[in-house]
Amino acid sequence: MKKVWQECIECHSTYDADVIKYKCDCGGLLEVRIDLESLDGISWERFRSRSFNVWRYFELLPFEVGDSTVSLYEGGTPLYKCERLGKWLGAKDFYIKYEGMNPTGSFKDRGMCVGITKALKLGVKGVACASTGNTAASLAAYSARARIPCIVIVPKQTVALGKLFQAIMYGAKVIRLDGTFDEALSLVWKVVDEVGIYLLNSINPWRIEGQKTVAFEITDQLGKVPRYVALPVGNCGNIAAAWKGFKEMEVVGLTDCVPSMVGIQSEGASPFVDLVKNGLETLRPVEAPNTIASAIRIGKPVNWKKALLAVKESNGLVAKVSDAEIIEAQRMLASLEGIGVEPAAAASVAGVKKLIENGEIDADETIVCICTGNMLKDPNPELIKGLEPIDVAPDLDLIRNIFTSLLNQ
Ligand SMILES: *Cc1c(COP(=O)(O)O)cnc(C)c1O
Ligand SMILES: [Zn+2]
Repeated sequence: MKKVWQECIECHSTYDADVIKYKCDCGGLLEVRIDLESLDGISWERFRSRSFNVWRYFELLPFEVGDSTVSLYEGGTPLYKCERLGKWLGAKDFYIKYEGMNPTGSFKDRGMCVGITKALKLGVKGVACASTGNTAASLAAYSARARIPCIVIVPKQTVALGKLFQAIMYGAKVIRLDGTFDEALSLVWKVVDEVGIYLLNSINPWRIEGQKTVAFEITDQLGKVPRYVALPVGNCGNIAAAWKGFKEMEVVGLTDCVPSMVGIQSEGASPFVDLVKNGLETLRPVEAPNTIASAIRIGKPVNWKKALLAVKESNGLVAKVSDAEIIEAQRMLASLEGIGVEPAAAASVAGVKKLIENGEIDADETIVCICTGNMLKDPNPELIKGLEPIDVAPDLDLIRNIFTSLLNQ
């Protein structure tokens, strides 16, 4: 038997793996711990003899052989070497880990397969989340797969159309809140225990367990640990998850170093970047977060303490970028490399560009940007301003002339 428990990141109180809790009694965040020292038979060779997805690294996940797991074959996403984009950034050895290739088009699927598997093991009546969009889409799909009732709550004014459509089509009960994501999360959190529904936001430490596999995959694909791993930061779960993955690989002897974690936020929603930059003791929430990158439009990230540890322990960096810089990066990813990402995902690339320009990132080292979500999620006309298509009447001469002039442009 694998020894698995939950532990507070602050007072280190421990709780049984089957206790449903989203915070320690002291108020600290919980994390899932596995007795890594007791695991045997872990090697890259063994992992690589299996299919390339989240479950390739089964020993490092908090389940036993024989446990039934819920899967849509998440993970196993491409790592692209990007020379043209790298040149634009001034980076020598630059890669994109393209999480838009997951079953519902974002990295959330890595966490949800584990979260829903845990929900089934616990025998809960239903699952719920607050979401800017992607968590709702992912939870809806996995609860459909597991045949478990699902309620999601999203901010009405800002949820991206593709994400809302997914949640509805996968069969979730969808509530639109006239308010922000932060309000939505604080409201659901207050009712879940009372109504007996299981909360699957990233405050739930089992989500992080699935999401940490992105670190395993990057290392597996690259054949080494990169010097920097950059990603967009919203509710602060994913940067903590990736960092946990890198640390655990080192503990079990799969690697002998760790990367610096680089967290990027948008100027209109940058409480975490401000916390790090200003050396604050505690997070100052942004009351009215605003950015075109709706997946990171979050003013009060619940996992900020975990993310702060990730940045501190990894000698990491943070930066904030403008919406204009995000849109530019999104277009460059698509047009220079054929990689279609949503705005939040492009923020990581925009942030790396800024940190290279500032001299904070060494451009000669290996850099991996995690591009968290797919372009198709968010077909917002704002994003293609100035690139609108040419409208024409069905006239042969006109079409011929336009083709000729476009080709000679
Ligand atoms: C959820 C999400 C993020 C933010 O991740 P956190 O864990 O909340 O920090 C970034 N990009 C995309 C596309 C997302 O869906
Ligand atoms: Zn505690």
